[in-house]
Amino acid sequence: MLPTECSPYKLERNDLENLKDVSIYVGGACNFNCRYCDRDFIKKTGVQKMEFDQDLAAFLLAIYQTGAEPMISFHGGETLLYIDTIKKIVKSMVDEGGFNARFYIQTNGSLILKNAEFFRQYKDYLYVSISYDFHFQLENRTEFGIHETLQFLDDLNIDKQLQYVIPTNRKEAFDVEVFSSIVNLYKKYRINSLNLILLRHQRGLEEFKTIIAGDDVDLKRLFSSFLQFVQLLYVSGINVALDGHSQEIDKDYYSNHKQVVLAPDGYIYPEYQFIEYKYPEFRLGQWRAPFKLERNHFRPEGLAKIRPQCIQCPKRNVCGLQYYYAMFDMDPPRPDKCSSFYSYMEFSLNHLFKLKRHRSLLESIGI
Ligand code: SF4
Repeated sequence: MLPTECSPYKLERNDLENLKDVSIYVGGACNFNCRYCDRDFIKKTGVQKMEFDQDLAAFLLAIYQTGAEPMISFHGGETLLYIDTIKKIVKSMVDEGGFNARFYIQTNGSLILKNAEFFRQYKDYLYVSISYDFHFQLENRTEFGIHETLQFLDDLNIDKQLQYVIPTNRKEAFDVEVFSSIVNLYKKYRINSLNLILLRHQRGLEEFKTIIAGDDVDLKRLFSSFLQFVQLLYVSGINVALDGHSQEIDKDYYSNHKQVVLAPDGYIYPEYQFIEYKYPEFRLGQWRAPFKLERNHFRPEGLAKIRPQCIQCPKRNVCGLQYYYAMFDMDPPRPDKCSSFYSYMEFSLNHLFKLKRHRSLLESIGI
C-alpha cells in the first residue's frame, strides 16, 4: 500500500526542474551476450538487483505529487528478467497511485512475448524501446522473433522504437544492406522512431577503451557517411533520434541533467555507467528515505576527479565519457578526437532537427 497521505518525506518542484526521465536500474543480469556489452565488468562489480519497497514507491509518488510527470524508465541488464519488480512499480503508480504515468522499457525484446499478460494489462501506459542491430543483429547480439514481437505490440497499439548501436569501427556500418534491413521493418510495422547510437566506447573487465579516439577512426569520413545515412532514413519517412535526442539537445551533466538514475544501492546518479561503482562523489542524492536530490551542480568531490582536459572541454555538458576517464586509470582523453566527435555530433543533431521541422522531404519543398 502506498503512503499516499502525509508522507514525512517530500520533494520540491524546483528539485525537479527540467527532469524528463526517472530511470530505474533494475539489475545487471541478461539473457544475451552482446558483443560490445560490458557485462563482465558489471558481474565483477556485483551490482545488486532493485527490490521494490515502500521507499521506492514513496519516492516516485513524491515526484508526481509535485506536479512533475517525468517518464519512468526501466534499464538493465535485460529489464524483463526483472518483471516482478517492474510490475510492482507500475501497479503502485497506476492502480494504487492513480497516476497516468508513462513507463519506458528498454529491452532486448526477446522476452516480450513471454510476458504478454503484463503488456496486455498495462498497454496504455507503456513505451517499449527494443535494442536491435538489424543487419548486425546476429553478429552483435542474438536473433529472436522480432516480427512476431513487433506484430504483438502493433496489435496492442503500444508505442515503440528500435534502438540501433552503430558499429563505428566497421566500414560496412552504413551500407545499403543495413539501410534496407531498417526500412523493411519500418514499412511493415508501426514503429514510432529509430534511435541511433554511435558506438563510442567499450568497457572490458579491467580497462576502458574509447573507440572513437582511436587513430584508425577518421571522424570526418565517419560523420560524412553517417549524415548521408540519416538523410536517407529521413527521406524514407523514418523518425530518427540520435543518442535519444529527437527535437533538441537537452542534456546537461553540470546543471539539472534531464535524467536521474535510481540505483539498487539506494542512491541517485546522473548516468548508468557508474552506478555499480557506488562512487559517492558523483551521487545526486538518495531515493531511500530521507529523500535528497541535488541536481543543479556538480559536487566539488566529483569535480576533483574529472580530468583537466574534460573540465576545460566545451563539450563537457553533454559528454558522459568524462565519468569513465575519471574512474579508470588510463591515458588522458584526446580532445582532438573525443571533443571533435561531439562537435560533429552536435552538427549532425542540428542538421537532423532542421530536417525534422518538416514531416517529409515533400513537405519541405512545399508539396
Ligand atoms: S569530449 Fe573528451 S575531453 Fe571533452 S569531456 Fe568528453 S572525454 Fe572529456
